[in-house]
Amino acid sequence: MGKRYFCDYCDRSFQDNLHNRKKHLNGVQHLRAKRVWYDLFRDAAAILQEEQSKKPCRKFLQTGQCDFGSNCRFSHMTEQDLEKLSAQVQGEQRSKELRQEGADVPPGTIEDWLEKRAKRLSAAQNNSTLPEKPAPFQYPPGWPAVQDLPPSLQAPPPGGWPLPPGLQWG
Ligand SMILES: [Zn+2]
Ligand SMILES: [Zn+2]
Repeated sequence: MGKRYFCDYCDRSFQDNLHNRKKHLNGVQHLRAKRVWYDLFRDAAAILQEEQSKKPCRKFLQTGQCDFGSNCRFSHMTEQDLEKLSAQVQGEQRSKELRQEGADVPPGTIEDWLEKRAKRLSAAQNNSTLPEKPAPFQYPPGWPAVQDLPPSLQAPPPGGWPLPPGLQWG
């Protein structure tokens, strides 16, 4: 069994000879895997800026191969790659902005909120203790007709029971 070359980026091995190595190291798959690995350590915005400043590498995009590999002065990124990257950059920027906005919130916001809440609550309480319009009198459901009720259960006439003239208590 001859020596084998193991590529860490691609997680695969092949028989090690000059031809195989050259073919693999310049292949699309390998270059992609290698770029993905290194891009893990770079800011997406920096990559995007760099890639957008380059002209597309026609050779790489047409044939999937370019002898210059990652040293190529043209961009090996397809339009799709760039779109994905730019979406990633926007996402990173948004979360950065959100973090900054969160830091800019002045102290005391919670206290303000609690104060407003207390005011709101006490206002609601005051409202509930305001004299309510008396509900119109109604006999409980299921009671016999009014004329059949004993006088003590009949509703007082509007204005209350008339006081007999000359009534004296105690
Ligand atoms: Zn590889
Ligand atoms: Zn190229």
